[in-house]
Amino acid sequence: MEARYEMLVNGKMTGGSRSLDVINPATAEVFATCACASREEMEVAVTAAAAAFPAWSATSLDERRAVLIKMAEAIETNLDSLARTLTSEQGKPIGDAQGEVGGAAYFLRYYAGLEIPVETIEDSDARRIELHRRPLGVVAAIVPWNFPVLTAVNKIGAALLTGNTAVVKPAATTPLATLQFASLIKDFVPAGVVNIVTDNNDLGDVLTGHPLVRKVSFTGSTNTGMKVMSSGSATLKRMTLELGGNDSGIVLDDCDPEVVSQQLFDSAFANNGQVCIALKRLYVHDSQYDAICEKLAEIARAAIVGSGLQQGTQLGPVQNRTQYDKLKSLIEETRKDGNIIAGGDSPDGPGYFINPTIVRDIADDARLVTDEQFGPVLPVMRYTDVGDVIARANNTSYGLGNSVWSSSVEKAGAVASQLDSGSVWINKHGDIGPDTPFAGAKMSGVGIEMGMHGLLEFTQAKVVNYAKAANV
Ligand code: NAD
Repeated sequence: MEARYEMLVNGKMTGGSRSLDVINPATAEVFATCACASREEMEVAVTAAAAAFPAWSATSLDERRAVLIKMAEAIETNLDSLARTLTSEQGKPIGDAQGEVGGAAYFLRYYAGLEIPVETIEDSDARRIELHRRPLGVVAAIVPWNFPVLTAVNKIGAALLTGNTAVVKPAATTPLATLQFASLIKDFVPAGVVNIVTDNNDLGDVLTGHPLVRKVSFTGSTNTGMKVMSSGSATLKRMTLELGGNDSGIVLDDCDPEVVSQQLFDSAFANNGQVCIALKRLYVHDSQYDAICEKLAEIARAAIVGSGLQQGTQLGPVQNRTQYDKLKSLIEETRKDGNIIAGGDSPDGPGYFINPTIVRDIADDARLVTDEQFGPVLPVMRYTDVGDVIARANNTSYGLGNSVWSSSVEKAGAVASQLDSGSVWINKHGDIGPDTPFAGAKMSGVGIEMGMHGLLEFTQAKVVNYAKAANV
């Protein structure tokens, strides 16, 4: 029997007054239909979350931990089925989907293990000052299509542990695995504490403008992030914005092309390049430029591109038609801007497939270099002077991540210290985890997610200041 994908509102699975066709990007055909909310139904979910807040925020930390652990168990028990749904809607290879779904459970277990600290600012003869953390209220969690399950669950874990309730809105092209997760948690999460509501990419502003929403945890593009900030300003909502990136990788002159190239390739092409922190611009020292370009092209030509459900697939399709068309036009433009030495085409047959594409001899002002491509196309640029390449890497409005590659950690560290981004990696790229704070500099974001720093962004600081001497 075909699975039904309904929304979770106020503790019940519900059909919604609209429906949404979901396309499998490997076939370009509709393979499932799910519930989709109207504006009024989105409002109902916000009201349910607000109504659930007083009781949920009054629960003990241990009670909330227990709910997170149950969510993790529900995910683990249904890992294969969730991963299959995720691959069918998102496109990623099934092993990667299992990794994402398993990662979601891991994140929940991490949050369940955290304490919410009470900080003592001063404890003197005169006074005691403590910093407490209170929940905020209803959190709107808005999610993109590249890591739909992990991104949603990361926000749910942090919001719930700190005593908030949540309305989660998946992206319109990848709602299914998140709705499946909703059906797995509905029986043990108190009504209204988590609501999962789908739209057709048209109801985000209901959440970001709603007076009952106290915080927006948004992950998506910089353009939409700007709209979110503006829409939340009327009620001064707390905001965490995790936005786009154009991460550089800088390869110093002492790397072995044979060793480093595979890691560079993986850093750029994981999830088919559809990662906010994918390596999106690669700068290689002149002395190794030809060797690394050639090695990258060799790896790209050998990569197995196909349906994520097929055994052995390394790169699946691009997730949706809009992104596919954008990438195809970028590649056409790149034919005159640079030298495509691998890929640039699509395999025969249906689906949004693009063979992994390596471009060399391309200038820094080409659109493939200045814009976030968000797909399987990597520009490789040459440099001779380290000071110059640092300036080139920093010459962007984005500031999510950067990496430096060198056999000398000291040399790499000196370069890394001059790069302007929320994360910088040495001899790797994109390594994140639930315990590691993740921030975007410049136009790549506002605030921090993950780790204790990220958790505290789901709270209101409250200072309690006691007089010690009895003066009353
Ligand atoms: P997007 O901005 O188009 O959509 C993201 C979400 O916002 C979707 O759920 C969408 O429906 C919703 N949305 C659309 N308009 C809205 C509005 N006016 N108000 C509120 N919500 C609205 O992004 P996308 O194309 O789904 O995802 C790709 C982008 O996300 C890339 O730029 C990528 O770098 C970025 N991203 C960033 C991170 C990070 O942590 N920094 C992680 C993953 C993806």
